[in-house]
Amino acid sequence: MQEDEIIKNLNKCSRCALCLQNCPIFQIKKDENNTARGLICKLLGYEKKYLNEKEIKKDLKICLNCSKCKENCPSGVNTSLIFAHKNAKFNPSKISQRLFLMVKLLPIKFLYLLNIFKKIPSKTDIKSNVLYFKGCVAKAQHKTTYLDRIFTFADFLCCGLPYLTSGDIKNYEKAKKRNIQLIKSASKVIFDCASCKKAVFEYEELTEDDKKKLLFLTDFLDDKKIKLKENSKYKNKTVVFHKPCHMDKNDFKKIEKFLSNIKGINYKKLDNPDLCCGFGGSYFIYHPIISTKIVLKKAISIKKSKADLILTACPSCTIGLRYGQIVSFNFKKTLELRDFIEQELSI
Ligand code: SF4
Ligand code: SF4
Repeated sequence: MQEDEIIKNLNKCSRCALCLQNCPIFQIKKDENNTARGLICKLLGYEKKYLNEKEIKKDLKICLNCSKCKENCPSGVNTSLIFAHKNAKFNPSKISQRLFLMVKLLPIKFLYLLNIFKKIPSKTDIKSNVLYFKGCVAKAQHKTTYLDRIFTFADFLCCGLPYLTSGDIKNYEKAKKRNIQLIKSASKVIFDCASCKKAVFEYEELTEDDKKKLLFLTDFLDDKKIKLKENSKYKNKTVVFHKPCHMDKNDFKKIEKFLSNIKGINYKKLDNPDLCCGFGGSYFIYHPIISTKIVLKKAISIKKSKADLILTACPSCTIGLRYGQIVSFNFKKTLELRDFIEQELSI
């Protein structure tokens, strides 16, 4: 995000405080310094040279970059993107952080290698220039998902969010450039991860027409023809869905409709389905106490629902929810929506 665009956005803030309501960090810390409104005031203070970098850096680092403030902002301030860019500027990726990111990605790379030995299932071959944006974790976990069999695999790079939030702008720009090239060449791009879709949607170089091509997997499933497999262990079980903070509201509505239409399961809406899971990629590693407090709130709400299966559509949320199951002693299965469809449904 360019500096002039950032300033323009900062000046749009009317100080209405609507962004405070759903900010998971404010709910835990009760400190205005860690809200979108507080951060915006501080960034404007920095621009006017009333504050120095040191007085903002720490507060920016505590932001989860969940985008809930952006969702609630009546003035359309692109809060999360401003905070990510400013955080990257004030806390540029150091060698230690880059090493940490490399170490974090090692298990993923190792799983890529193991995939070489996996058998590729037969293809249904409805290939076209509808491209599948296969995220890093999906690439590592599965040589093919059913989305590979329906859509064309394209060599997208990481969506860039892990680079941006860790201050590595160089690799973020590299990933963005490659991904934009592929999007421009496609008629549609299908996502199964809400965070990847959101990160790509925020590429400023994409036009409105390009953005219309970015779709979530449920847009392609005819839910009337889908039913539970005969031998599914979730027959007559209660299933809930955790809405990742980065998930578009319309995508969530479609997922709810899709799950409600599956005969044989009891889809139940969580009391507060978009309560943050608190994990936020590497956030847990840097802020384990705040993260665990948020995770616990989510885990308690899931426990109350008496769900037998928890679904979501973001690998980071999946890990956060599994951690929540452990700390709340509620050992129920958590699955990615993509894997649930593949393993449990007849499509
Ligand atoms: S909701 Fe938007 S306009 Fe209102 S205080 Fe927050 S950032 Fe500013
Ligand atoms: S991005 Fe999330 S954590 Fe950060 S200020 Fe906005 S609501 Fe709060």
